[in-house]
Order: sequence, then C-alpha cells, then structure tokens
Amino acid sequence: HEAPKAEHYLSVLEEIAAGIRTGRGRSADYIPALACVDPDRFGMAVADLDGGVCGVGEWRTPFSTQSITKVFALALVLAHEGAELWDHVGREPSGNPFNSLVQLEYENGIPRNPFINAGALVVTDRLQTATGDASADLLAFLRAESGNPELRFDLEVAASEAAHGDRNAALAHFIASYGHIRQPIPPLLDHYFRQCSIEMDCADLALATGFLARHGVRADGSRLLSRSEAKQINAVMMTCGTYDAAGDFAYRVGLPGKSGVGGGIVAVVPNRCTVCVWSPGLDARGNSVAGVDALDAFTTLTGLSVF
Ligand code: GLU
Repeated sequence: HEAPKAEHYLSVLEEIAAGIRTGRGRSADYIPALACVDPDRFGMAVADLDGGVCGVGEWRTPFSTQSITKVFALALVLAHEGAELWDHVGREPSGNPFNSLVQLEYENGIPRNPFINAGALVVTDRLQTATGDASADLLAFLRAESGNPELRFDLEVAASEAAHGDRNAALAHFIASYGHIRQPIPPLLDHYFRQCSIEMDCADLALATGFLARHGVRADGSRLLSRSEAKQINAVMMTCGTYDAAGDFAYRVGLPGKSGVGGGIVAVVPNRCTVCVWSPGLDARGNSVAGVDALDAFTTLTGLSVF
C-alpha cells in the first residue's frame, strides 16, 4: 500500500494527547458495571492498511466496546446476505436517542438504522440465523482482524446489562411483533449483551476496523465485502454512527465513525488508516467528550477528513 505507515502519525497523536482535556462528561451509568470506570482515562491509536499500529496514552488498556460492535455485526450480516438485510432495517439517521422506541410504531417495526439498538437487534438476529452462534462468530472475527486471540466477552458487564435490559427487551419484542425478528427473544438478548460486552483496546479496534479502510478486504487479504458494501457501511457510520449527534460529528471530525457508551470511538479514513480513541467521560448524547475532541484535532492537524 502507498499510504503512510502508522508511525507517521505518532507525532500528531502525541500532540493531541498533550493537549487533551479529560475528566469532562460522565461514565455511562445505566449499565452499573460501566459506571465505576474513571472518566479521566484516555488512549488513542492509529492503524495503517498493512497491520501496523501505534498509539498514545492508554492505547493498550481494554475497555467495553458496546455499540462499536454494531459495525462489525453489520459487516458480517452484509457479507452473509447482502442487500436483503435492508428490507428489515433502514439507513436513515434517527434523530432520537439510541434506545428509543417511538419511531418503530410509525415505520412498521423497521428500525431506522443498524446502529440504534432497535436496528442492532435486527442485525444480531440475522447473524444468529446465518451462523447459529452470533456472538461467538463476531468474537472470532474480531480476534482474526485484530490479531489478538485473547479478546473475550466481559461476562460481568453482559450480566449487568441483562439485569437492566428491560428497554432492549421491549424493543426486541416490539420489532418481533412486526415479524422483523425471527429468533426467540431471550437468547437473542443474550447474544446482543455478550456482543456489547466484548473488551478491546484502541489498537485492537483500530486494526479490526481496517477492512473498512481497505474497501472490504480483511487483514489476511481475503475479501469480506464488496467495495460498494464497504462504502455503504462507511456512509451509514457517517450519518448514523454517533447517536443523535452524527451531524455534529460530521461537522467537527468529517470521518465515518462509530461510538459506544464505553467511551470508545472508531473512525475510518478510507484508503489510508483507521483511528480509535477511548475516554469514558460521555456527553449527554452518549459520545466520549475527549474522544470527539481528539478526533476533531486529528483531522484538523492531518487534513485527513473525507471532505
Ligand atoms: N449495550 C448497550 C445498550 O444496548 C449499547 C449502547 C451503546 O453503546 O450505545 O444499551
């Protein structure tokens, strides 16, 4: 690949880390096991197209990936069934919080996009039908792409979320009543909570997102998605990847990105590199405050937005 190696970005990352203000926002508290994570923590990594990676701060500290896994589940389902998926989940920003129920009734139980919880439940349901073990399949994919065989579910986080899972259960049952979920709900929720609980560090996540910068090609050189499918996922990340703040994220960062309530955000510079940042202090919409600041600085300092 012609694109620069990961080390090329190290001085920019060091500059960002030196200037970052952490400690703003609050760790997610609706999942009790996430509430105790210190909002001051910060790490950031860049991966190049060839599997090189470098980082600053706590870039090797595993954290709870949460909604970031929705990107990988979507990719696996698109690889299995292609465009049929889009009969069951839309691709428009929702303008509502990630766990909102309100639009479903007006839209025949078809979730607005695959990155709100409603849409992610449909995606995980379809992955379960395709593979017979959705969360294990996802974990195997992430281990392969990150090159880290140690990746694991955090069963304490999964159990903590399951114990407070009424909202996700309600979403799943409601969608099932329209026929867009096919599995029994309790095991589907187990897969979804396990999926969300996968622990990864910034290096793992930047590497695992690489196929989206390589237009659908996996770490081992095999093709997961067509060029056009990879473009589709990047487009949905741009328009829907950061909850109801995707407009602001596009305005400030200008890259396809996906955030999670664990405080992580991944971003893709197609044909160039991927970036992952982690800092658990969240703003009111669920995005990492220092994480968005850091990505904003990254595209400002490098000129690498898609615009
Ligand atoms: N497991 C979380 C939930 O479903 C994911 C939320 C997120 O990261 O946005 O509520």
